[in-house]
Amino acid sequence: MRLGTFEIGNEERLGIELGDYVLDANRACAHLLAEEGDGDAQRLADALLPSDMLAFLRAGERALEQARRVVEFARQKDLQAVDFAHPLAAVRRLAPVPRPGKIVCVGRNYHEHVNEMNNQVPTIPVLFAKFSNVICAHGDPVPHPGVSEELDYEAELAVVIGKRGRRIGEQAALDHVAGYTAFNDITVRDWQRRTPQWLQGKTFDHCGPLGPVLVTKDEIPDPHSLSIRLWLNGELRQSDNTGRLIFNIPRLISFISQIMTLEPGDVIATGTPGGVGVAMNPPGFMKVGDIVRVEIERIGVLENKIVESDALAATAQ
Ligand code: MG
Repeated sequence: MRLGTFEIGNEERLGIELGDYVLDANRACAHLLAEEGDGDAQRLADALLPSDMLAFLRAGERALEQARRVVEFARQKDLQAVDFAHPLAAVRRLAPVPRPGKIVCVGRNYHEHVNEMNNQVPTIPVLFAKFSNVICAHGDPVPHPGVSEELDYEAELAVVIGKRGRRIGEQAALDHVAGYTAFNDITVRDWQRRTPQWLQGKTFDHCGPLGPVLVTKDEIPDPHSLSIRLWLNGELRQSDNTGRLIFNIPRLISFISQIMTLEPGDVIATGTPGGVGVAMNPPGFMKVGDIVRVEIERIGVLENKIVESDALAATAQ
């Protein structure tokens, strides 16, 4: 399933993409239960299939099963004629997880990127954090920070956690995954490098597009075989395969969970391949007006336009 968060009637709602439509999963569940004769269908639907992505992920396998039932139910309906389906073009897409509790990022996790940055291949995963202020959706404008000319992109496969866990073994690691999505770890290079901690170059507002949807793991049985590419204004800048991760997903989940409890909705950004702008000669940073496009096989396209900082502030007021 392709799960997302959408603004429907001024509310953030868990949605399931079905062709050119989005199913409001919770509303569709209520219709399904009502057709099955339940007298208090909406209340039961609220319990079985929450309308909020984080609540849905926390509800685990039982909610996922309801979501699958909803898809089968909707396939038998004329989606133009039901109030729980909306044309994709008529709703605003948000990031699939709009406010992750944690965004754990992995640095230096593809050989080509390690080489182009003149770094050593790490023997221990390099971790850093972004915060939920960076999250924005496919199609959202990304404000140029303005304080620097060194705005760079990083296409990454992101793992969304679906089950709480601490000290997770590699064998069990994928049991804790809800699914996968694309991430752009947008970075202000000079701010990243001017102190030993990278944080200040990694945490500018909206510098973390996530999406377009969370693809459930049953649709991606092998997350280590996906082509990952990035274009800037139509020019291919990054092209690799997730099979070449230095630390693969089970190792990352196992390693990170030695440190912290992983919770449903946490995001692990698995690192970027070679081809970042700072490593080009001359450097190829992003400017206002640029279109940056990440594409990951089986997941889809995550595209954003770089805009003036002031332009975004003006539209937000
Ligand atoms: Mg990165």
